[in-house]
Amino acid sequence: MTDSFLPNPDHSPQQAAAAEQACASFQASMPAILAAGEDLQLDPHLRSCPRCQALVRDLEAIAEAARQLMPADPPDTLWDQIQRAIALEEQPTNPFTDRDPAHD
Ligand SMILES: [Zn+2]
Repeated sequence: MTDSFLPNPDHSPQQAAAAEQACASFQASMPAILAAGEDLQLDPHLRSCPRCQALVRDLEAIAEAARQLMPADPPDTLWDQIQRAIALEEQPTNPFTDRDPAHD
């Protein structure tokens, strides 16, 4: 059955394990690739691996969000805004004060 051998990660447990190992070693080398200023997209593993492509996309989205949420020099009001937003989220709805027709 060697003539029907396909490079499918789901083909055998051994291949799946090998694919996971390749992903693990790629992911372990990501910081070094980024630190070297190289383009992750050029990595041969990444180009052939949808799982790692999804991972890199997620990481880039998170990094981009972090850049927008946390400017290099965050203003003093940032924490106040966060605390206020959390307080609004957690404020329990009180039917007696929220739905008082006398205030209408
Ligand atoms: Zn991978």
